Amino acid sequence: MMNSKKIILAGAILILGSATLVKAQFKINARTVTGGADVVKAATLTDADVAKLCLEYAKWMDEHNPVAPADSKYAIRLKQLTDKHVNESGLNLNFKAYLVKDVNAFALADGSVRVCAGLMDIMTDDEILGVIGHEMGHVKNKDSKDAMKTAYMASAARKVASSQDGAVGYLSESQLGALGESLANAQFSQGQEKSADDNGFEFLKKNNYNVLAMSTAFRKLAAIEKENVSSGKKKSQILSSHPDSEKRAERMEKRAKEQ
Ligand SMILES: [Zn+2]
Repeated sequence: MMNSKKIILAGAILILGSATLVKAQFKINARTVTGGADVVKAATLTDADVAKLCLEYAKWMDEHNPVAPADSKYAIRLKQLTDKHVNESGLNLNFKAYLVKDVNAFALADGSVRVCAGLMDIMTDDEILGVIGHEMGHVKNKDSKDAMKTAYMASAARKVASSQDGAVGYLSESQLGALGESLANAQFSQGQEKSADDNGFEFLKKNNYNVLAMSTAFRKLAAIEKENVSSGKKKSQILSSHPDSEKRAERMEKRAKEQ
């Protein structure tokens, strides 16, 4: 089982940040890291290295989380929503649902987009698409790539890998766990989040989906955040470091109304 701290940190790589966390079952790492990550400043990873890491990490995530089987209602719905978007904006995207309660979604730089069942349960189709558009924004803007790079450089994985043969990639189970831990700690800036929100909005607009869906999605998240805080379940650092959902909702609503 994950402890709440790790799950909260996991929010950082995801769209939702603070809304996600209380009942989460999301597995992001193998709890193998003992802290004291080594931050190395000189980022020497090539794009090919990062691509390889992302592929491996996506595979690891899919192996360690319950991927919805093709005949589950989540997989069917997600496929229906995303089938025509696998090459959106020149990206090469693949989508899977995880059968976990988290209200969350994330994207890796290789174009792997994962959506949690908890999010699908509370959101309309257009809201899910808005979230997906947001995640595509992170991929398109290279936020996901930078996060992977930072995570790798900060993680124990780098140390171990380089002490073996100096090659990036083909990480062991525990190295991938360390990478996940690191990735969870790599937060997007508010600017990056805003820009991803805008991408979500543009995506809805371009495809004739309901442009109000971004704001209503954030309102739902805001309600969850409020509930979590008032029930004392958590006072997450994400609340201070993440643009709060209510503000994001307002900004997206304003944009929608300007249309
Ligand atoms: Zn985001």
